[in-house]
Amino acid sequence: MRLQKETMPMRYAGVIVDVSGGRLDRVFTYRIPPRLEGQVTVGMQVEVPFGRGNRQTDAYVVELSDTCACDEAQIKEIQNISRRGIAVESQLIELAGWMKEEYGSSMLQALKTVLPVRREVTPVCSRQVSWRLSKEEREAFMGSLSPGRNAAQLRLLTALMEEEILPYETVTHKLHISAATLRSLSEKGIITVEEKRQYRNPVAGKGAGGDIPALNEDQRRIVDGICGDDRKGVHGTYLIRGVTGSGKTEVYMGLIAHMLATGRQVIVLIPEIALTYQTVMRFYRRFGDSVSILNSRMSAGERYDQFVRAKKGEIQIMVGPRSALFTPFTHLGLIIIDEEHETSYKSETAPRYHAVRTARKRASMAGASVVLGSATPSVDSYYRCGTGEYRLYTLDRRAVEHAVLPPVEIVDLRRELEAGNKSILSRRLAELLKERLEKGEQSILFLNRRGFTGFLSCRSCGAAMKCPHCDVSLTLHRGGRLICHYCGYEKAVPRVCPVCSSRYIAGFGAGTQKVEAMVEKQFPGARILRMDADTTSGKGGHEAILSAFAGGQADILIGTQMIVKGHDFPNVTLVGVLAADLSLHGASYDATERTFQLLTQAAGRAGRGQLPGQVVFQTYSPEHYSVRMAAGQDYEGFYWEELPYRRLLHYPPVYAMMTVMLSSKDEEAAWRAVRAADALIDRYIDRWQRARGADQAPEKIGPCDAPVSKISDIYRKTLYIKHMDRHVLVTIKNGLESLAPWKDEKAGVLVQYDITG
Ligand code: ADP
Ligand code: ZN
Ligand code: ZN
Repeated sequence: MRLQKETMPMRYAGVIVDVSGGRLDRVFTYRIPPRLEGQVTVGMQVEVPFGRGNRQTDAYVVELSDTCACDEAQIKEIQNISRRGIAVESQLIELAGWMKEEYGSSMLQALKTVLPVRREVTPVCSRQVSWRLSKEEREAFMGSLSPGRNAAQLRLLTALMEEEILPYETVTHKLHISAATLRSLSEKGIITVEEKRQYRNPVAGKGAGGDIPALNEDQRRIVDGICGDDRKGVHGTYLIRGVTGSGKTEVYMGLIAHMLATGRQVIVLIPEIALTYQTVMRFYRRFGDSVSILNSRMSAGERYDQFVRAKKGEIQIMVGPRSALFTPFTHLGLIIIDEEHETSYKSETAPRYHAVRTARKRASMAGASVVLGSATPSVDSYYRCGTGEYRLYTLDRRAVEHAVLPPVEIVDLRRELEAGNKSILSRRLAELLKERLEKGEQSILFLNRRGFTGFLSCRSCGAAMKCPHCDVSLTLHRGGRLICHYCGYEKAVPRVCPVCSSRYIAGFGAGTQKVEAMVEKQFPGARILRMDADTTSGKGGHEAILSAFAGGQADILIGTQMIVKGHDFPNVTLVGVLAADLSLHGASYDATERTFQLLTQAAGRAGRGQLPGQVVFQTYSPEHYSVRMAAGQDYEGFYWEELPYRRLLHYPPVYAMMTVMLSSKDEEAAWRAVRAADALIDRYIDRWQRARGADQAPEKIGPCDAPVSKISDIYRKTLYIKHMDRHVLVTIKNGLESLAPWKDEKAGVLVQYDITG
């Protein structure tokens, strides 16, 4: 679809009706009545009569034209410009069109991704209680209260002495202050009870600004370089590779300050898991009220509010996960993506966009720059530095002098078994752990969980306990429950093997719960916290556990990927990675890269404070380059071992790759559909070869079962196509879309695309 900018009064508008349900995903043409002529623009939300009953319906304008291909008599008129929605940036609509094309989705899915969804829900009103008295008056007033008669008032005011602002719910539910007490204090002018936007500046009154460290030479060079480019009107993509603690965030702040000083706005993307109180406070302390935060716990209404504030210019900096990329800033100057290698920057629903690539598109439309940061950049980004697409900067040392990278020891688990050690902890790790417990220092045990879940199998016949609805093994949980992590199916551990009736059914591998139980047994008395998907499902669950650990409430923290990111634990002096190599055995082409990143990050968790740290990798593959290079914190070493392998096997980033997945409840229908798609692609490749030779032709793998071949009783078949030029894959995708050779399958075949590179 061509998206047009308005140049002259147009008479027709192509709109997309905001109704969920696939078939409505097409452009409908409406006439623009004379009274609205010149007012309707691309991106605008309008009200149109829709369907047989001419129900008044909201629609998005996605194109304008002065001619109309359909029967003039059949065309209905736009009724109104919707006053309810915020006028949506046409830029974002254009971005949606690009995402639809580049990643494969419906226009509606793309629009829903980029446009803030307004919900008619009443906003979660968050009232807050705060002081109205000056600091001097507070103590005097509290002194006038009687601990006997005014106990409730004193309880509240004491709490407010510690925390300037308290959420209303905390005051009523935790401090048990009645509404009458609050009203009385508020009428006397002691406190204020007000409805506030949830994300008002939590350090208001403490003064933004704070102490800004003078940038060191390396940091200065980066800020000057990027700002210098900006002044010359050069807007590129920059990658800052710097170990954790090397001062990347300070560089970001320097760049943000430059943008604010020149009247522009900044989006800062941070993986959700790293969006901790600590990080957020750093931005608030420096930039005060111009900062706003998005996170996934916010309701649609709250997010919408933040977007409205951004659009009105009330805030200049938006910090948040992937979706913050679509903040409707009108003077966007910079998009920062921290921890750019994180997998959470890739959307798992259509359009399956990658935030880095999409940020580059948005930035190019807005005349903005993109800055990526990571200690372990994705192979993709580093490769693009080599091709000249990105500009590379490095920070090689930690910014604070005493903080040095911890030494890493590699322990060969095969030797442990030979020596008769059956514990999950190697002798060396157990020894170091014991030392920490004696010294009162903290340790982290990190379970590389990919492929390491505790699944059950029969020791007699080898049968694994699998989910009846999905093509995955069930996971053993405490209390003898077997749970499917895909669909939630649950059952008790069977007494005998369902296949051979043997009684010898046993767990294989170990989950965090098992590690916890073993460590408890080996170190009775040690205070242990565990963090995984089970313990953190509640609201703010992981934050609570991390804070407890940071606050010294435990000696050992056991967990999965989640614990290696975000929080700083100054008292942690030992990090043990149990089975470092297990993630190497994943099915995906980037399993090695993920392993290297996880190990490097895990190692970086030790010795963040005054005390020196120590790290142990336990592994069955001590000689594997991802393990060796992570131990040496050698990114370049890793990259140059990894790249030739990608090149040889034609994987991203050297080649672009597209996965086409066809799924259906009816397995035969899914097979027929994928074979039809396959035949179409074969014809395309055939034509290509005849025209241009076999050399550069697209490569195809499949059709075959998807790595997880069934989820919730839906069968999944895939095809993989690779080519040097991403556009070729997009062309194939568009061909499949328009011919849709699976459309005759009655069993509702769903097609999904995933394009990488
Ligand atoms: P990163 O984002 O790379 O992990 P940070 O920017 O968080 O690094 O810096 C790590 C620590 O070093 C922080 O406590 C930060 O305040 C401090 N720091 C960074 N740059 C400087 C500097 N130029 N002078 C003094 N301290 C600094
Ligand atoms: Zn059996
Ligand atoms: Zn299941």
